Amino acid sequence: MSAPRELPCAEEVLPRLVAACRTGRLALFLDFDGTLTPIVAHPDLARLDPAVAASLERLAARTFVAVVSGRDLADIRARVGLAGVWYAGSHGLDIEGPDGRRLVVGEELAHELEVLAAELEPHVARTPGAWLERKRLSLAVHVRATPEPAATALGRTVHLLAARHPRIRLLEGKKIFDLKPAVDWHKGRAVRWMLEHVVPAGALAVFLGDDVTDEDAFAVLAGDGIGILVGDGRPRTRARWRLPDTRAVARFLARLARDCGAQISGTGERTAR
Ligand SMILES: [Mg+2]
Repeated sequence: MSAPRELPCAEEVLPRLVAACRTGRLALFLDFDGTLTPIVAHPDLARLDPAVAASLERLAARTFVAVVSGRDLADIRARVGLAGVWYAGSHGLDIEGPDGRRLVVGEELAHELEVLAAELEPHVARTPGAWLERKRLSLAVHVRATPEPAATALGRTVHLLAARHPRIRLLEGKKIFDLKPAVDWHKGRAVRWMLEHVVPAGALAVFLGDDVTDEDAFAVLAGDGIGILVGDGRPRTRARWRLPDTRAVARFLARLARDCGAQISGTGERTAR
């Protein structure tokens, strides 16, 4: 574990990524919020910059690209809107490939999540700026727009209510409380599943992410992969390289797409709104 500010800049490993990408042996995994797009006041407002989408489209024509997000699968797929990309929603519980291959983990706990959502609802409703996001395989309580001490008070309530549901796990992130099935599965397991079942053997695996849920993926890649932390919002990280912000990620992806000579295949049409 390292302090983010001590990490070397990821530009250092760009040549390795370019070399792997040229032979189609790069597996590029990307978180969405805070990595591909800046954190905005409401998750509905997050839009993928067209330049970033163009870089991803070019890279996906050349090599394996997956977006791994806490958002619902349908949401993340619509927001990125590229046909040639793998999508892993709900922190990796719900995975779908461009060829229609699908893996769903923890579906049996969807009802218990609904019960917990109903318990949380009145508390969230009376907290200024807070809202409850109901997703297919998880819930999220957002307090980005909630002043203190209301945010801390709501956090205590979320902890208390979640503790009554041992089959549901609470993960506290930046101004967000994620509640998801307490199955032994996370972004790291999703990345490992894709590496074992989808990605060509011997590929260089790279994960870019900014938040606590990305640490599981960094851990999976700690051996021979490359973990890149975006920003320095975490006290300690398993990532070994760093990019300062989402603009640096955009430049990094543009250079990678350019330097590996990736062309748009013409099949990867953007379908986003
Ligand atoms: Mg993120």
